[in-house]
Amino acid sequence: MPRFILMLKVAAMSLVAALAFVASAQAGAPMVKYQAPGYYRMMLGNFEVTALSDGTVPLPVEKLLLNTTPEKVEKALDKRFLGSPLQTSVNGYLINTGSKLVLIDAGAGSLFGPTLGKLIYSLQASGYQPADVDDIYITHMHPDHVGGLVSDGRIVFPNATVHARQADVDYWLSEDNLKAAPDSSKGFFKGAMASVNPYIKAGQFKAFEGDAQLMPGIQAIAAPGHTPGHSLYKIQSDGQTLMLWGDIIHVAAVQFPQPSVAIAFDTDSKEAVIQREQAFAEAARHGELVGGRISRFRALATCAVPIKAIRSCR
Ligand SMILES: [Zn+2]
Repeated sequence: MPRFILMLKVAAMSLVAALAFVASAQAGAPMVKYQAPGYYRMMLGNFEVTALSDGTVPLPVEKLLLNTTPEKVEKALDKRFLGSPLQTSVNGYLINTGSKLVLIDAGAGSLFGPTLGKLIYSLQASGYQPADVDDIYITHMHPDHVGGLVSDGRIVFPNATVHARQADVDYWLSEDNLKAAPDSSKGFFKGAMASVNPYIKAGQFKAFEGDAQLMPGIQAIAAPGHTPGHSLYKIQSDGQTLMLWGDIIHVAAVQFPQPSVAIAFDTDSKEAVIQREQAFAEAARHGELVGGRISRFRALATCAVPIKAIRSCR
């Protein structure tokens, strides 16, 4: 083909492509609709800590909170420019100790509706794969903490051993307790069984008791009340401490200033209040970093704490 004709053809093709681009740009791109994968990373001494978002779930908190009134809850939320239903964060935490990759809580998987179950995407976006995880420490066996252990009944973390407190094993994995539970609570037992039993069957589960030192730098602390085996995890490296709070707190705007406010999900709300007050006092005394449902996502903070109630976090 003569060079001149070739140039004309190329020019014509470019024009067509340019017109097509203009047309598609004018048509407008469809909205993506889903949120970006959420993770926040920091060093704690020699450990790498990554907070992983599992998503948020809208909770009608004025109906769920105890030892208060719906009016007081609404007022406290309003003070922080929040309202009910409140978008409540569900998080997991990945700790790379240098020799082990540890996941604290696995998110909700498919157990808590379509807005949760994103932890696995956050984990992958943060640079790791499920097969990289060596150990998983569960704060308690509620569905939004264990559901992500499995997908369609299959183990999601093929090389991990799951660890949880014996008291939660005895309570949530008991067929007798499931039978005795009211219909409204049976789903909690079934969710725990569906999530944890595949690991037990595969020989990838270990229970612990007391304030067990699970590996160098990671200690389980008993904090029963929210569930019988509810555990906090104390992460320590090179003189720095991070306390992972599990479900010590659900609604920061209400419970930081008033830790006596409990939630309907508690197995023993009186005990849960005592544990919350202790956790706040500890955080105040030592000024340590805490992780839990304390901010919209970053999910880690140091808090200014008077004796029992927390006023602010940064
Ligand atoms: Zn819970």
